[in-house]
Amino acid sequence: MRAGGAVQAAIDATAGVGAQMMELARRLYPLNRSLTGDGVRETLRILEETLPLERIEVPSGTTVYDWTVPPEWNLRDAWIADSSGRKLVELAASNLHVVGHSIPVEARMRGAELLEHLHWLPESPMWIPARTSYYDPAWGFCVTGEQRESIDPEADYDVVIDSTLDESGSLTYGELVIPGELEHEVLLSTYVCHPSLANDNLSGIVVLAALGRALREIELRFTYRLLFAPSTIGALAWLSANEGGLDRIRHGLIVSCVGDRGALTYKRSRRSDTEVDRAAAHVVERRPGGSVRPFVPWGGDERQFCSPGFDLPTGSLTRTPHGQYPEYHTSADDLSLIGAAELADSLGVLAEILDVLEGNVVVERTEPRGEPQLGRRGLYEAIGAGLPRDIEESRQALLWVLNAADGETSLLDVAERASLPFAVVEDTALLLEEAGLIREHER
Ligand code: ZN
Repeated sequence: MRAGGAVQAAIDATAGVGAQMMELARRLYPLNRSLTGDGVRETLRILEETLPLERIEVPSGTTVYDWTVPPEWNLRDAWIADSSGRKLVELAASNLHVVGHSIPVEARMRGAELLEHLHWLPESPMWIPARTSYYDPAWGFCVTGEQRESIDPEADYDVVIDSTLDESGSLTYGELVIPGELEHEVLLSTYVCHPSLANDNLSGIVVLAALGRALREIELRFTYRLLFAPSTIGALAWLSANEGGLDRIRHGLIVSCVGDRGALTYKRSRRSDTEVDRAAAHVVERRPGGSVRPFVPWGGDERQFCSPGFDLPTGSLTRTPHGQYPEYHTSADDLSLIGAAELADSLGVLAEILDVLEGNVVVERTEPRGEPQLGRRGLYEAIGAGLPRDIEESRQALLWVLNAADGETSLLDVAERASLPFAVVEDTALLLEEAGLIREHER
């Protein structure tokens, strides 16, 4: 066994990690990301300043399972102007103003026709909705209620969307493998296809990037694979390219919506009780307000990773889940919705989950008959330095680990059964190993 808590320690050693993540989110916020295009590439390029990502380009037209990679979309400019030339809506004000993957338009049209291409939120007229049309050739603008009201059905408007849909383009994703002692992998993924939206997207990107930097600093048992890919088809493109190696993936976590002020939420994998499900539940349930939810086949890329042909042990960590906060997929999901403290808290929880996975070994007694005499080995003194509650937990852990060390029971089994924090069980197991009473059982 090695000392536990290494991932958490690596993060704790990064001074101001929450502020660093906010700073990165601020840099990434103005980029116009979409399913394809230069916004994703620029996002990955910025991440590459601190993480040596491998960038993969999947050509437009490539078939991945039941899907086809669409033409690459880039947007130079867009606006709606009235007949006097006054711009009523312009891209420069918000990336969200243009429906993602809109086909190019340059036309003068009646307000009545233009209104058919406008999206707005009658219940939240101050906010601009976020909309996409990746697989249907369409165009549209997303506007505030006030902008929508300003369109006169009888008047004429100049409408420009200066976009390109390039059949010879590609979809881009980034990947990083951080090798550990084992070939077995932990897959950590987030999507990179949302334009200026902070919690739903940037929070996942910046937390995963910070985690990747920490993981590169330490000795690891598992090999870690970080994936920054556009959602759905990006995940499918990765699955398609890596089908031969999927049996190496022992644990997976999808990270998104981790910067808002809501409590932590873990959504189980399709298999529901895999080791990562148990590790995440153990950690999240101990957090104030933390909740663990059953698998449902909607949400993020668990729809792909947990589809029956793959059924990977992949859960999802969020704070408030997708679609369950009012600002979701609107311009109100801006940088004010996320905070350095919340990002740091989410990163800490991820680290704690990974520390459980890293440290979850099976132990066995060197002499399993009867209870060893602990007093003469100085073990009670060794755990007597902490707070009274911690001492009590450690004393319980001592007896639990000794009793559970049968060559079949893991340290997480012990923590669950004894309702003790994993770290206490792990620290106690290390003491017992040092005292020669238990050893790691090779699984
Ligand atoms: Zn989203």
